[in-house]
Amino acid sequence: MTRQFDVAVIGAGPAGLAAATEAAQSGLSVALLDEQQAPGGQIYRGIETASAARLKLLGADYAEGRPLVEKFRASGAEYMPGSLVWNVTIDKVVEFSRDGASSRIRADAIIVATGALERPCPLPGWTLPGVTTAGALQILLKASGIVQEDAVLTGSGPLLWLLASQMVDAGVPPRAIVETVPNGRLLQALPHLPKALWQRSYLFKGLSMVRKVRRAGVLIYRNATGVAVEGATFATALNFTAGGKPHRIETRTIALHQGVVPNQQVTRLLRCDHVWDSSQHCFRPVIDAYGATSADGVYVAGDGAGIGGAKAAAIQGQIVAIGLALRAGRGNGERLAHLHSALAKEASVRPFLETLYAPAPQILSPADDTLVCRCEEITAGSIREAVRLGAPGPNQVKSFLRAGMGPCQGRVCGLAVSAIIGEERGETPDDVGYYRIRPPLKPLLLSEIANFATSDAQEHATE
Ligand SMILES: Cc1cc2nc3c(=O)[nH]c(=O)nc-3n(C[C@H](O)[C@H](O)[C@H](O)COP(=O)(O)OP(=O)(O)OC[C@H]3O[C@@H](n4cnc5c(N)ncnc54)[C@H](O)[C@@H]3O)c2cc1C
Repeated sequence: MTRQFDVAVIGAGPAGLAAATEAAQSGLSVALLDEQQAPGGQIYRGIETASAARLKLLGADYAEGRPLVEKFRASGAEYMPGSLVWNVTIDKVVEFSRDGASSRIRADAIIVATGALERPCPLPGWTLPGVTTAGALQILLKASGIVQEDAVLTGSGPLLWLLASQMVDAGVPPRAIVETVPNGRLLQALPHLPKALWQRSYLFKGLSMVRKVRRAGVLIYRNATGVAVEGATFATALNFTAGGKPHRIETRTIALHQGVVPNQQVTRLLRCDHVWDSSQHCFRPVIDAYGATSADGVYVAGDGAGIGGAKAAAIQGQIVAIGLALRAGRGNGERLAHLHSALAKEASVRPFLETLYAPAPQILSPADDTLVCRCEEITAGSIREAVRLGAPGPNQVKSFLRAGMGPCQGRVCGLAVSAIIGEERGETPDDVGYYRIRPPLKPLLLSEIANFATSDAQEHATE
């Protein structure tokens, strides 16, 4: 028999952990699934096993994850680590692969807390071995204590500076930071500064990271354009223009970053309504004040609902869970007003950061010969050509070219493909839309789908 829960939470980052804890404490039966082997999500990755030295290295914000995980562990929610969710249906069946076999659970409500993904950075040479994302370098550091030597970090966004300062603390500073924030962006962001000052601790933290990286002697290039990775079979150098001059830095390790965007795979699969967020340059699901999407019984909390950071994610998780408990006639809403105002305070810094660190124009509109869909090796030029031949949207481009049909199922190229089509057709992102996402959400072996746990398979056969 398929196991039934009141709530299934997908994702054990701050949003999912807080939501599962709150819901379980209200007396609801809760399952929390995450493909990782340990709770924490992106920001608190490896938090339970981090040594004192690693906790110190990764800073106070990272250490805040420990009490969150401890509360979750004590909450009575059922934790299903190593569970890759590959399908979710509108009747709230969650199918997942764990230890090489698939299972399914049912729930009355689903909380999607699948967080953010790094924005794809299609630029010349980005698919060469040796090129990675800033987040990937940080995962190595958090999960295994490994720091890449001689790395060049390029792009824009707070994570770039956070990673650089963590590398400095680890005693292996990056070779250089090549920032693509255009001159004049700070001026554009200034009108948002007064509101951002409500959360001045974030701004001070940012400034101190920049100071630390500078003091460590890391080469810093600003206002870089024309960023391109050089190499025949692997990355050998980064080329760019800065200060009116061409530069070339030889390196085998290049980390790209242009901010993070909501992971929309599950909400797209469930055909929830989405809207273009012009400040964050990405789609996000449409939700109400309690995280409810347009799909009945499906909720979103955390960065998957729009980028707000770890603290906001945990607050949203609590709000969604309290709302669910109230609907089930449990708990009370006394804390809701406080949580909503804490969420609004957290959000106050976002417009400043979003304007300052908006993605580089080169990324939003890649040159014709730049690969966009890396799985199927489709260039920006062929996507434009497909549009000229009559493909009106991402799904037709997918049929024409196989873009988005590879192992990543559009997770990496989706936003870039929609942006190129919009630019070519002169349409808004909302008009262009996004890939129609289908299961499996992530690559997995056919044997994992075929190998359903016996009880689930039998039930499936009688349905
Ligand atoms: C690579 C990366 C590194 C980051 N590092 C930092 C940082 O150091 N500091 C900081 O302040 N912010 C960081 N951020 C931003 C950050 O993710 C958050 O603001 C915060 O972690 C959001 O919390 P969340 O709970 O919404 O999502 P997350 O913390 O991202 O958690 C989402 C969880 O969902 C799981 N998941 C996703 N899809 C599936 C699926 N199909 N099946 C099963 N599980 C699934 C993931 O494994 C993950 O554990 C980072 C973002 C990224 C993308």
